[in-house]
Amino acid sequence: MSTMTQPTRPTVTSGSSAAVPDSDVFRRGEKPTEPTIFEKHSVGAVAIDLPGLDVPEAPVPDGLRGRGAPAWPELGQLQVIRHYTHLSQRNFSLDGEFYPLGSCTMKYNPRINEWAAALPGFRDIHPLQDESQIQGLLELLWTTQRFLAEVAGLPCVSSQPAAGAHGEYTALKVIRAYFKDKGQSQRTVVFAPDNAHGTNPASCAMCGAGAVSIKTKDGYTDIDDLKRAIDAHGAENIAAMMITNPNTAGLFDSKITEVADILHGIGALLYLDGANMNAVLGKTRPGDFGADVMHYNTHKTFSTPHGCGGPGWGPIAVRDFLEPYLPVPRVVKRPDGAFGLDFGAPKSVGKVRSFFGQVGVAVRCYTYIRACGGAGLEHIAETSVLSANYIAARLRSVFEMPYFKPEKGMYCAHEFVTVPRRLLDKGVTLVDIAKRLIDYGIHPPTMHWPVIDCLMAEPTETESKQVLDRFCDVLLRIAGEIESSPDVVRSAPGDAAIERLDEVGAARKPAVVWEG
Ligand SMILES: *Cc1c(COP(=O)(O)O)cnc(C)c1O
Repeated sequence: MSTMTQPTRPTVTSGSSAAVPDSDVFRRGEKPTEPTIFEKHSVGAVAIDLPGLDVPEAPVPDGLRGRGAPAWPELGQLQVIRHYTHLSQRNFSLDGEFYPLGSCTMKYNPRINEWAAALPGFRDIHPLQDESQIQGLLELLWTTQRFLAEVAGLPCVSSQPAAGAHGEYTALKVIRAYFKDKGQSQRTVVFAPDNAHGTNPASCAMCGAGAVSIKTKDGYTDIDDLKRAIDAHGAENIAAMMITNPNTAGLFDSKITEVADILHGIGALLYLDGANMNAVLGKTRPGDFGADVMHYNTHKTFSTPHGCGGPGWGPIAVRDFLEPYLPVPRVVKRPDGAFGLDFGAPKSVGKVRSFFGQVGVAVRCYTYIRACGGAGLEHIAETSVLSANYIAARLRSVFEMPYFKPEKGMYCAHEFVTVPRRLLDKGVTLVDIAKRLIDYGIHPPTMHWPVIDCLMAEPTETESKQVLDRFCDVLLRIAGEIESSPDVVRSAPGDAAIERLDEVGAARKPAVVWEG
């Protein structure tokens, strides 16, 4: 572990928000170096008492003998708890600080979700338990599917996919099965705009479809380029276009219905990447603006603690003509009112996930939707969009906003993109700005996506105006520091548990083995 540099603790007093006392802002402060758990080893210490043997003693089979006891550390329970608590406090977390990571919707995860997910009837069931004993869980999955169908404006939902990317993959399989069944298996080309999330082309590749990039103009789908691509690849070969709306430039693409009409006109389908549903909940429905199929990222929109790699849940919603191809099992309500798992769909793409799907995230999603209610969901869209526009408006004189031009009627949705060209021209990099934000206790926004040299920030609806103001104050302050003390910015973070890492080295030559 590298030694810590002496922290430089910046303070910000805002003109427009209440001044925050230093001690609250910089709780994370300086921390002593935490030894590895091996270094904390003390001979003979035990963390748990194993119960006495209640079966006859038997020798360890020969094949498993001979390697001796592993060199695991010996520690008491309290030492173990303290060690991992210390490490956890070094993690940046949404429960501790503002986390405006664009496109990831790092909103507050209400504690009632955790209570619901831990109810024994959900937590303690066995995946092979009989249907008759898990009626509550099946009812919850079935009801949540109905909610998601309603929000999507698409009638049929599969709760099987385990994440957004998995939903994309599953939906592309469904689209492929549909066209095959119609005798149009030559339809293998899938379009995605050049600002698409990386999972879109990756899912295409996983399904054996070719992803073709469509240009965007001022952040919107370039209709001329779409038409050109249709001619170039042959209308009869196009399966679908995957589009995110609001898109990754933070814009609601009002040409979406035109795009849908063009695709439907050539017999292709419109796929909606639903990662940004937070901005439109209850305001518009993908099915109403022309989507035939979509995935949800319920861990984003409907709140579950998540990070890179999950946990997630990516149910898909489709129009009725795609229903026969949805994965099995389907969660169904039988004529006698009982809930069950239906495996009997001859045209289904088959299984994509074991057992009932991501039950823990599904329970949180259900709880969140029930807690908010219809009006609450609509309020989420309004507040998240207002918050992003508020920040963009406060920052734009210093941080250029290529897709936020209120004078031309161009507002952002629930996130905004800045390309701070004037600041970068002063000899700092985007990484410098991002790292300096860490010193102020703010997680850096998404970087270099959807365009190079950009920051993409998503405040979500759960942050107060004080937090939004402080974020603006800090960014403006950093802009000032780039003028007055650029070295502080270039050497940031000065106040984190570890200083700036050699990120390439960390990825290529990681030192992950402790040598005592
Ligand atoms: C997060 C995201 C995805 C991927 O979803 P996962 O649930 O992380 O697999 C896809 N598209 C967009 C636009 C996203 O923001």
